[in-house]
Amino acid sequence: MTDQGFRRIAIIGIGLIGSSIARAAREKGAAAEIALFDRDAEVRARAAELGLGDVAGTAEAAVSGAELVILCVPVGAMREAAEAAIAAMAPGAILSDVGSVKGSVARDLAAAVGRADVHLIPGHPIAGTEKSGPDAGFPSLFEGRWFISTPDPAGGGAYLAAADRLEAFWRALGSKVERMDPQRHDLVLAVTSHVPHLIAYNIVATAYDMETVTEGEVVKFSAAGFRDFTRIASSDPTMWRDVFLNNREAVIEVLGRFTEDLIALQRAIRWGEGDTLFDLFTHARGIRRSIIEAGQDSPAPNWGRDGGKR
Ligand code: NAP
Repeated sequence: MTDQGFRRIAIIGIGLIGSSIARAAREKGAAAEIALFDRDAEVRARAAELGLGDVAGTAEAAVSGAELVILCVPVGAMREAAEAAIAAMAPGAILSDVGSVKGSVARDLAAAVGRADVHLIPGHPIAGTEKSGPDAGFPSLFEGRWFISTPDPAGGGAYLAAADRLEAFWRALGSKVERMDPQRHDLVLAVTSHVPHLIAYNIVATAYDMETVTEGEVVKFSAAGFRDFTRIASSDPTMWRDVFLNNREAVIEVLGRFTEDLIALQRAIRWGEGDTLFDLFTHARGIRRSIIEAGQDSPAPNWGRDGGKR
């Protein structure tokens, strides 16, 4: 166990993210004991087979004695998961989560906690894949990726020390850490993740609905662009339904801007404004280059997909 490591952590929800935290924490020595619970008995059995940690039969048993509890369930299930765990949590323990939306989750968790002796520190690792379940996880998922921490800035000394400890844990898993206000997080993620997923779901739906193109042709002639959208659109429907229901305001704001920009592009195509298209595509290529330079993606052809996990 590292110096900043926890003696015992509990992970509730053993899917892609929960199982990856368990694997990474073990590999990096960030926790001596890892307890896990999932509401699905088959998932619990599989987690035990995979040797992810001590799989408990109830949420209470998993969180009992844990210094850190991380809720890794869909955003819409956070409150229920917190309510099932809170009474059994040790005084002074940290309750955190990995939900892709922070404003509504912070409110839901605060409503469920109702205890001053538990430190509630919501968070979100900006790392993932389109896969779900305990077999999909891997220990290097958080390596070089951001963890956004959203502690309450009004918290006192012991609370802020707990936030430092949680952030040290994520650094030990390989993440870079940034603190952010939950509303800011939700707007940033609406731009960088939520609306791009919505666009992917929509283009795939449009392609299948086109009466003049058969489903067989869409599959047979699927070019790289469409294939990449289908990969994103194969993400877990429960997770993404919950993201859109819980980040409505920011998603609607970003969609408004997106729609205006799309209409401008449509106009440029209609009127043959090649320079407008060329300038915009050149600018977009520059953004791609900065993402690679920032270490947020691979420069390899086909996104390095043939050689790597992502
Ligand atoms: P996942 O692979 O679908 O796993 C979630 C697990 O939680 C499932 O086994 C689910 O069981 C279980 N669960 C649901 N409600 C529960 C409850 N009340 N108590 C205990 N277990 C419960 O999901 P994931 O991709 O790991 O995502 C988990 C969270 O991480 C979500 O909040 C998501 O927004 C966030 N996140 C995801 C990604 C990503 O790329 N996937 C990235 C960053 C953050 P059932 O199948 O029975 O519902």
